[in-house]
Amino acid sequence: MTEVANLSVNLTAVVFIALGIATGISWYRRRGRADGFLALSLILLAAVATLGRIQALVGLSSPTGRVLNVISILAFLGSGFAVLLFRDSLLPLKLPTIRLAVALLVVSCVIGVAVTLVVGNAGGWISLALALELILSWSIFIGEPIVRFWLASRSLRRVQRARMRALSTGFGMLIAILLVAVLGGSALQSPLAIIAVQVFALAAAPFIYFSFDPPVLLRTYWRMKESAELRAAIRDLLLSSTTQQALAEKAAPWAMRLVGADSCFVVSPKDSFMAYVGIEPERVAAIVAELPGTDTSQTISGRGRTTAVVPLLLTEGNGLLGVETGPYTPMFGTDELQQLDAFATSITAGLERARVGERIAAMERNKSQFLNLASHELRGPVTVIRGYVSMLEKGLCGDLNDLGRQAAHTMSAKVIEINELIEQMMESARLEDDRLFLRPETVDLREIAKAAVEGARPLVDANHSIDLELPETTVPVDVDADRIQTILANLISNALKYSPAGGPVRCVVVLRSYLASVSVSDTGLGIAVEDMSILFTRFGRVATPETEHLPGTGLGLFLGQQLAHLHGGEITVESRLGEGSTFTLLLPQSAGNRKLSDRTRPRAPTRAIPDRSA
Ligand code: ADP
Repeated sequence: MTEVANLSVNLTAVVFIALGIATGISWYRRRGRADGFLALSLILLAAVATLGRIQALVGLSSPTGRVLNVISILAFLGSGFAVLLFRDSLLPLKLPTIRLAVALLVVSCVIGVAVTLVVGNAGGWISLALALELILSWSIFIGEPIVRFWLASRSLRRVQRARMRALSTGFGMLIAILLVAVLGGSALQSPLAIIAVQVFALAAAPFIYFSFDPPVLLRTYWRMKESAELRAAIRDLLLSSTTQQALAEKAAPWAMRLVGADSCFVVSPKDSFMAYVGIEPERVAAIVAELPGTDTSQTISGRGRTTAVVPLLLTEGNGLLGVETGPYTPMFGTDELQQLDAFATSITAGLERARVGERIAAMERNKSQFLNLASHELRGPVTVIRGYVSMLEKGLCGDLNDLGRQAAHTMSAKVIEINELIEQMMESARLEDDRLFLRPETVDLREIAKAAVEGARPLVDANHSIDLELPETTVPVDVDADRIQTILANLISNALKYSPAGGPVRCVVVLRSYLASVSVSDTGLGIAVEDMSILFTRFGRVATPETEHLPGTGLGLFLGQQLAHLHGGEITVESRLGEGSTFTLLLPQSAGNRKLSDRTRPRAPTRAIPDRSA
């Protein structure tokens, strides 16, 4: 049993020496101040463990044993003080506290050296008092950081939090061992007790080790919960970010969480978007300038920090996503680079999507601005022309010969077309800017249909005819009459336009149980099934050899459908290629006249706000 106890003591010494070497290497790679103090502390602890084993060989009371004892006391106190300095470099201490700690260190060293040299290892109460004094000082140096780290860890992200807690736990266990070993006295001299203490000491080692260099598996485990959150966040990020800038700003904090970084930056190829979290733009510029290239993932170390940079392979060129370590963050290894790379790939797709979206939005804005401007500029002159044409037609400018009358009639038809176009452009611009408001009133749909047909008369040539079929009873609807007339005017003018060979156009008003409808039918070109989907889209026109030469903008049906929706109605279409089409405007019957429950009404009610001018 004694041999096993001896073996366990040797094993603990070896493990702490290995721990000292590992922290030393870690410090060498990062050269950070904080890492330096942690490495120093563990190396000194390893020295204490080694000296303890040598002392056991040379004898405690020999002169060499005494010298070794003095060195080991100094190393022991030094290891505690180094932890305090480690804490100071992460969470700075106040000057009076540092002074107090230095005083405690000096006093403890003096007492320890003096007592050891004068009294030696005679045992008895003096040795016990000295041991207690030393352990108490050491516990003060270490206990304060342990508590402080634990408290600070509460506000940290998962990986850092786990690391700070592992460190606190490891050192906490060491304090417990030392106190138990000294206070336990002779009771702990039995081989079994020695083995138990050593096993406990050995268990503390991984906690301390994991705090400064956690293995990949452990980091992945710590991150597991965050990974699910991250996936959801990426989805949200990609779907909801409308601009590249917004996406970059949202992505940066997630990149930090992903690898437990302290700061993050996103740089675009042409400076069109940027994001910085916890880092100055000047520092980013310096990092970018230092990079040998921007097409591979890489890490750069220096000034106690590691920076990991991965490329964002965008159509415009290569952007960069970079993260930097902070005092609590682990060094970036291949695991972090891989994670960051995968994240960069996801956000690259999002950035591309946002870029295309931004372009389309800009084009849409330009289009609306143009529509608005052009229609406003055209409206004045066209009104004047319309007035004069009307005067010509009515003979107010003198008698016209046949050719003159025919010219006036054609001009009148063309002016109606232009006016319709201007109206469509203005309505489209209003719709775009959310300025389109309805002025609903209860009206008889038959009257609106009549007015629309009358308005279209000038468009009717010798090959066409318009028939209007109306029910006997009134068809009350709560609508903006002008808007409904615009919809019908467009359906009628389309029926005439898209039946170039002529033929009848039928306009039929029907009152059903809760719906009112007006259908406009022609026997013209008709529409192929596959072209139906574009009819109601903005600027959607069906381009066939028969329709290509016919004038039009593709706005009429789009606007008609939008207006119908605003009224709680809809335009439907039935058509056969080469046989003709029927467009039907469905509207809810007037609320006062409705017999069925509201549930059966189609769609939402209208937006009813006064003024539609502008
Ligand atoms: P526009 O007539 O100015 O092109 P519209 O939005 O009114 O725009 O119509 C969109 C497209 O729908 C037209 O370009 C045409 O191809 C098709 N269309 C509309 N009405 C008819 C119809 N009665 N018969 C055949 N095609 C039609």
